Amino acid sequence: MVDLVDMAEEFRTQQMQASISARPQFDKESELDCEDCSDAIPAQRRAIGGVTRCVQCQINFEAKQKHFK
Ligand SMILES: [Zn+2]
Repeated sequence: MVDLVDMAEEFRTQQMQASISARPQFDKESELDCEDCSDAIPAQRRAIGGVTRCVQCQINFEAKQKHFK
């Protein structure tokens, strides 16, 4: 029989590692609203930290940055 406590602990460790690797280098508060279009940034996205744009504007922003390189 599988030990549920061990499984839960393993799952928790994996989640922590995932959240650490998803964390940006800078560790600061996220903006409430997108700095480009002023739309509210979803709490789930703001939880990453240092988020200043909504998903769509971030995609546009990164696409522009790639273009300039
Ligand atoms: Zn936006």
